[in-house]
Amino acid sequence: MTRGVFLFLLCLLCAGLTKAQTIAVRAGNLIDPANGSVAKNQIILVRDHKIVGVGADLPIPPDAQVVDLSHSWVMPGIMDAHTHITEGDLKYITDQNWYLRESTGLRSLRGLHGSQVLLNRGITTIRDAGNDANFAAVDLRKAIDAGWFVGPTVLTAGKAIAPFGGQNRDVPQEIGSIWHFEYYDGDSPNEIRKAVRENIFYGADFIKLVADNSDYHFSLEEIRAAVEETHHAGRAVAVHVLGGEAAQNAIAGGVDSIEHGFFLSDDQLRLMKESGIVLVGTDFPTAHLETGQFPDSQATGAAILDRLRRAYRIGVKMGFGTDAVTDMPNETRADMTWDYLAVWRAAGVPPAEILKCMTTNDAELLRISKQRGAIATGLYADIIAMPENPLENIEALRKIDFVMKNGMIVRRPQ
Ligand SMILES: [Zn+2]
Repeated sequence: MTRGVFLFLLCLLCAGLTKAQTIAVRAGNLIDPANGSVAKNQIILVRDHKIVGVGADLPIPPDAQVVDLSHSWVMPGIMDAHTHITEGDLKYITDQNWYLRESTGLRSLRGLHGSQVLLNRGITTIRDAGNDANFAAVDLRKAIDAGWFVGPTVLTAGKAIAPFGGQNRDVPQEIGSIWHFEYYDGDSPNEIRKAVRENIFYGADFIKLVADNSDYHFSLEEIRAAVEETHHAGRAVAVHVLGGEAAQNAIAGGVDSIEHGFFLSDDQLRLMKESGIVLVGTDFPTAHLETGQFPDSQATGAAILDRLRRAYRIGVKMGFGTDAVTDMPNETRADMTWDYLAVWRAAGVPPAEILKCMTTNDAELLRISKQRGAIATGLYADIIAMPENPLENIEALRKIDFVMKNGMIVRRPQ
């Protein structure tokens, strides 16, 4: 036996002898966001990154590390189904061509910083909706998954697929297709199929279409090609669309989620409900719109609030997503996330429903509900807690003071 083989076998033996420690979380008030119920005085047992038991009378192993949250409100980690974690410096927000200002490497590091800020405040899963230079969010996901850094679960769209020109305007022809840093052009069903495959090859977890950011938009035939190709690859299609015929095509084409949809009609919302299409409304607070993304922030803010109110009344399945693209002065992305709560409150959505959108619904949309989104045996231990009851006052989320990610304690009450 060589020395190398001997050491290898010794390591295997040691690994076998080193039993993973159990963490026992005493949860005074355990919220199940799937139905808004609260179970009192529960024990959550965590081992090897996962939840291995939940119940009132579970015996705690004598060598377990006990975490006392008996006075807290405990629930699964929050998800953001629409963010842009690798964007971007506020001073460039008017043109949003961050890829002309910052390298893909810097964008990955920016994404790492932002994702750790979010995780520390209880946002344990993010879905990056594209605009990440040359796959910066894919690299971010790989680095976190490899265990090099602590961060949230990251799912990414890679490059968005749009009709010619991406989301750019006013680019002189002689400059060339600079938007290819962040977009694939898709100007026929076949081009879209190719873009879907290429994007997945380079690491996309889902496909993001930008349907109507130009004077032209995707046809029904093009949407169907994207949906068919993406679903064949076991992934979901998210579509940036505001309303009108482009939204009609997206809904009829069977996409998985409509992103934004600020001007969806009641009929379109009803069609979405019937088809099980999720609305990720990215319901911006007006103050965020004033950073320069929209020309008339007051009118846009009012339209968003009205659409959210109608969507809730009609009963469309909704996911929570922010569309945060940059830090605002004196606010982190986490602070900005909680700013959206005011819009949901103003639209009359009850706290229990908001929590469901942020966990259960997002997990289903992200196709990870067998891994995350609930506190149940067999799922990864993404657990948060706060001192006040978010079912009574949803703003309690701002006070999240315990965060566990994949069974590791990231933050605990001071
Ligand atoms: Zn977006």
